Amino acid sequence: MIVARRDRAIFVQAGVFWRPTLHLLGAAAITMPWRRIYALREHFDDEILRRHEMIHIEQIERDGAVVFSLRYLCWLARYGDRQNPYEIEAYAREKDPAPSQLAKKVRRVGNRRRQ
Ligand SMILES: [Zn+2]
Repeated sequence: MIVARRDRAIFVQAGVFWRPTLHLLGAAAITMPWRRIYALREHFDDEILRRHEMIHIEQIERDGAVVFSLRYLCWLARYGDRQNPYEIEAYAREKDPAPSQLAKKVRRVGNRRRQ
């Protein structure tokens, strides 16, 4: 079920493939380079989780989907999950109530359209 759309990122409730995959990974959500965020139903409305995943979307926008994916996997193998520099950035910024750069960009585009 697609519930929310921000820019090109779409939050989706994890289904038959992603639900067991997320449980296997011990994760509540996962952001994919094609800008879909799959989240377990029980965590779907978690605002901090949503901010965390949107920071990964920013990283994808900033570095490009291919570079992000390769770096993410290399850093995951080298540093593990919590010490992966992409995760360090996301965890450091997820509790920041200030709107993300991406959210600001979306708002600017929205304001321009209304004028
Ligand atoms: Zn993360």
